[in-house]
Amino acid sequence: VTIDPTHIAEPPRRTPVARRPDVLVVGGGAAGIGAAVAAARAGADTLLVERYGHLGGTLTAVTLGTIAGGYLLSGDNPVPLVGGCYAELVGRLQAVGAALPPRRWLQTATIPYDPERLKLVADELLAAAGVEVLLHGLVAGVARDDRRLGAVFVETRAGRLAIVPKVVIDCSGDGDVVFHAGAGFDVGDAGFTQFASTMFRFGNVDVARFEAVPRAERNAILERAAAEGVLLPRTSAGLQAQPGTGFVHANVTRVRQPDGRPHDYLDSWSLGEAEREGRRQAWLYESVLRERMPGFGQARIVDVGAQLGVRESRLVRGRSTLTAAHVRGCVKPPDAVALCAWALETHGADRGTRWEWLAPGDWYGIPFGCLVPRDLDNVLVAGRNLSADHEAHASTRVAAQCIALGEAAGLACAMALAAGIHPGDVDVAALRRGLCERGAILDPGVPR
Ligand SMILES: Cc1cc2nc3c(=O)[nH]c(=O)nc-3n(C[C@H](O)[C@H](O)[C@H](O)COP(=O)(O)OP(=O)(O)OC[C@H]3O[C@@H](n4cnc5c(N)ncnc54)[C@H](O)[C@@H]3O)c2cc1C
Repeated sequence: VTIDPTHIAEPPRRTPVARRPDVLVVGGGAAGIGAAVAAARAGADTLLVERYGHLGGTLTAVTLGTIAGGYLLSGDNPVPLVGGCYAELVGRLQAVGAALPPRRWLQTATIPYDPERLKLVADELLAAAGVEVLLHGLVAGVARDDRRLGAVFVETRAGRLAIVPKVVIDCSGDGDVVFHAGAGFDVGDAGFTQFASTMFRFGNVDVARFEAVPRAERNAILERAAAEGVLLPRTSAGLQAQPGTGFVHANVTRVRQPDGRPHDYLDSWSLGEAEREGRRQAWLYESVLRERMPGFGQARIVDVGAQLGVRESRLVRGRSTLTAAHVRGCVKPPDAVALCAWALETHGADRGTRWEWLAPGDWYGIPFGCLVPRDLDNVLVAGRNLSADHEAHASTRVAAQCIALGEAAGLACAMALAAGIHPGDVDVAALRRGLCERGAILDPGVPR
């Protein structure tokens, strides 16, 4: 081993090839679930590698109050905007009492769900689709030959493995595959990402009493505490009762560095600081809510997400890039593979959350090119690491859209393999037809 003052040259190694799948999906969050199910159902031999011991990603490891993005409001009525694998996952959750019907949330409707049960439901969904899953596998490197990935290296408890796939879908949320491949990405707006939040849940809440308090009054209670000198980083009270559990999910923290900048979520030293700050805030909110929020007098935190909730990190440079103008203009491009009506939801520097809604009843389409990395031929991306600018990403990152984009990427890869072409070169009209045949929604059929 050669040791110089700053670096060590590691000895060369021979790494065993563990699998040669058609499609390797990296990351088992919302996007990875959609991607793996779609690829396997379309006939591709599909392996999903996930670093944690369960599927769901942000939906389960962070825990969320609701699955968002599945509906738009037409007048007061929720109209489905996402179908396919998303609808199937929600249907499976509802069948076991782990999700509620769509519930009005500000100017949209969302699905309250039980994040623990989602882990099991996701296992069942992927098993039924015939996906092979490797848990506790961290993708830590790739072998790249020009514009093609030849192998992906996975660290496991038993050492390093190589996977030799025909195509890869990067659903890591943080664009890890693209990063290891040395391909292009941006991080937020010149490094300035949305702030992260530690998410947690309360037990022992008098839910009926709490739910009788209007949202504006909940926020006012926290504003009064802040005015009296309690150092609350956020007063927009994202508190959601979860189905059948008596738990209330809290999306209330705002984690930032002392100088006001976001932490670097791609650096473990900085990420660790953010985790500690988020935990500190969670118990600060527990004491404030117990003292001031109706229904919370006896409440206790029962769990804190296993990881900090990171809204935004690497945004891969794609053949197309979703822009804020596209989102605000409700553009419906002919190559859209998923639809979105979610607000530009910004967790910025002040104590509130900024919601910039689209025109009532309207939506935009997400072009397929946002899933195609500019620099790589046998890789697609899906989920929150798609190609988008910082502002557009604030709208398009919610879970239903991530599942739908994953589904589009999974089907595109299977179609490309069958045709012997690069996944980025599939016939998008045929892809859209295939998605619709599988229940996806590319026209919600409401008058505009
Ligand atoms: C605080 C917060 C609150 C939110 N609130 C809501 C909400 O209420 N409703 C909603 O719908 N959306 C919400 N969102 C947004 C939404 O949850 C996420 O954007 C979406 O779930 C992301 O899905 P994904 O699959 O793209 O990424 P992720 O959920 O990040 O999944 C990525 C997966 O890849 C795995 N992974 C990462 N790197 C590697 C690697 N190198 N090797 C192997 N595995 C790897 C991860 O462990 C993870 O399982 C929220 C997000 C945050 C952070």
